[in-house]
Amino acid sequence: MKEFELIKHFFTKQSVNRKDVVLGIGDDCAVISPIENQNIVVTTDTLVAGVHFPFDTSPRAIGHKAVAVNLSDLAAMGAKPSWLSLAITLPDIDETWLTEFCQGVFDLCEFYNVQLIGGDTTQGPLSITITAQGLTPEDGYLSRSGAKSGDWLYVTGELGDAALALQHITGRVDIDANFVDAIKEKLDYPKPRVLAGQAIREYASSAIDLSDGLIADLGHICQASNVGANIVLDDLPISDIMLETLGKTVAIDTALTGGDDYELLFTVAEDNKVGMETALINTGVAITCIGQLNGSAKITTTIDNKPVSINAQGFEHFSKDDH
Ligand code: ADP
Ligand code: MG
Repeated sequence: MKEFELIKHFFTKQSVNRKDVVLGIGDDCAVISPIENQNIVVTTDTLVAGVHFPFDTSPRAIGHKAVAVNLSDLAAMGAKPSWLSLAITLPDIDETWLTEFCQGVFDLCEFYNVQLIGGDTTQGPLSITITAQGLTPEDGYLSRSGAKSGDWLYVTGELGDAALALQHITGRVDIDANFVDAIKEKLDYPKPRVLAGQAIREYASSAIDLSDGLIADLGHICQASNVGANIVLDDLPISDIMLETLGKTVAIDTALTGGDDYELLFTVAEDNKVGMETALINTGVAITCIGQLNGSAKITTTIDNKPVSINAQGFEHFSKDDH
């Protein structure tokens, strides 16, 4: 199978066929025709084998995750996902691998009515770059910069399970055999909070998706919005499996610093709390208030209302200890 056969066989078969895609895969460019008075929101994310996922990750999980991390960025902007481009670099043509990879990609695309409209296919070490585009009403997007002192700090879902799974895979932690699959699912099949992102769009003052760990990503909101924050550690949403596996202290640390959660972190003014909570009910996504913003320009943490110091950092490429 050669490049063009490969593209035709694997990437042109999808059930999504959006009205706003004038010209999809097969020409020099795709042509898309968005509705008037909407913003197009664009994001790109790359996954490199051995960096963003362990080499032995299943192809379906890689496909899912490559799409999910991009949709998660759109979710953080309150956007409704619409189109994807996929640049894939493959060491060789393995049809079984590609079939499963496409399953991961297209399952998620179908769920959110997202159409693959183009891409690039090259040979080399496995790497996947996806550009995702979505729509918001004019001026109706969320950003990192609107948070105000006094706003409440919320997260969706539970924190740290993906990091726990990675610790297990790399042999640093033992998880009870009954729970390994559930925890690995969190790492391999993150759920982008697409519906929650759109639901909070009218109510949240800022939002970000959690890819590098709570402390690191909260730092981005604080910096962009020029605020500080206090996190109430007693209130962090932590799974029972993580509590049992790591104990409270290490579990909290993992929830603060572990990457790959792809939950939303967002801020809401007191006046918008009820509206936000009501809007979220239909999405079925659980949220937890984990603290409040202040004017301190610092991130602090408390347990039992008492300040505690944390030695927490998120994941950063090119930092001293990582690559
Ligand atoms: P060109 O060389 O003109 O840039 P290509 O030959 O790379 O185009 O690709 C041919 C068509 O197939 C284009 O429409 C391109 O967007 C699409 N395409 C290539 N690779 C992929 C892929 N991995 N996923 C989806 N579409 C792809
Ligand atoms: Mg061309």
